[in-house]
Amino acid sequence: MRIGCPKEVKPQEFRVGLTPDAAAEAVRHGHGVLIESNAGIGAGFTDADYIAAGAEIAPDAKLVFDASQMIVKVKEPQAAERQMLRDGQLLFTYLHLAPDPDQTRDLLASGVTSIAYETVTDTRGGLPLLAPMSEVAGRLAPQVGSWALQKANGGRGVLLGGVPGVRPANVIIIGGGVVGAAAARVAVGMGANVTVMDRSVPRLSYLDDVFMGKLTTQYASAAATADLLTTADMVIGAVLIPGAAAPKLVSRAQLSTMLPGAVLVDVAIDQGGCFETSRPTTHQDPIYEVDGIVHYCVANMPGAVARTSTQALGNATLPFVLALADKGWRQAITDDPHLRAGLSTHQGRLTSLPVGEALGILA
Ligand code: NAD
Repeated sequence: MRIGCPKEVKPQEFRVGLTPDAAAEAVRHGHGVLIESNAGIGAGFTDADYIAAGAEIAPDAKLVFDASQMIVKVKEPQAAERQMLRDGQLLFTYLHLAPDPDQTRDLLASGVTSIAYETVTDTRGGLPLLAPMSEVAGRLAPQVGSWALQKANGGRGVLLGGVPGVRPANVIIIGGGVVGAAAARVAVGMGANVTVMDRSVPRLSYLDDVFMGKLTTQYASAAATADLLTTADMVIGAVLIPGAAAPKLVSRAQLSTMLPGAVLVDVAIDQGGCFETSRPTTHQDPIYEVDGIVHYCVANMPGAVARTSTQALGNATLPFVLALADKGWRQAITDDPHLRAGLSTHQGRLTSLPVGEALGILA
């Protein structure tokens, strides 16, 4: 099978669907790999890297789409890309169809068979193709938050780890899932005084075990949140209620109870944000201030570290890419119900029940 990988065209997207390492694996499995020229450049991979891996380079996206049986990408296909998809072709990428009726309509019209990264599951009930990006966003959160805490950025001028004789910063992480645990790991490593809050006691037990006294766990009641806010230098919002908008856990009124120049990092902004005063920002203009509190609310945090993110995503997608290419999609999803969970459209039919429910289309 020929696997095609176009350059991402969504603004500010620097990741790429296949790394040179992944291309080399596919070639070793006997497949052809066609990469659009400069597709990997934003993540630091040159055309020469792909050629060394055994891939071919196409001068434009049209050639990639026309000549490939499977397209591997990162972001959902944009309108111009959707025009190049066709019946009998397989698309494997993030889709996020539920809030996107235009894309859904175009995918159905094209007849393409599409498998969405974000709905592929694993044996533990997790989402293995979303988790790597949560890991990245979580590890970035204390890093960007500590930058925002600096005086020049409007912050309190507090160093996360303190110094001998000066106490470290208080970091509160609300939501102790993949993002929260990753954020805790880095914040603890930077020497902060870390408290993780969650509504799941089993999850708090797990974190308590794993971190062995290096952080405090706290059940996320409204009263406990209100109390901890008053002494927090940084609050990281990392909650998720699957399929729902993020709950608002800090109100605007509560900002006045916080230390002036404290920082809110709302990682859950891609689900609407978990602080009342959050609104999405960009890597170009990542922070703003409300009532003296600095907000960081970038909705695509992994894009800031496109190379790491591409490699992490590639590690997670590669086994599925190889299964799809080796066996064909039908056999691959028959053998693997977790991959089957990603099947979203096929020959003009919607095959994802949640997307159908969200858009009012029969699935
Ligand atoms: P997860 O499911 O692994 O963890 C979410 C945690 O939130 C769970 O432990 C859950 O028990 C907890 N929770 C739910 N409601 C809560 C509440 N009211 N109070 C306290 N805890 C609560 O999810 P995740 O992968 O860690 O993702 C967290 C958020 O980060 C999601 O909204 C996700 O979309 C977002 N995210 C954003 C970016 C970005 O670039 N901004 C990147 C990756 C993920």
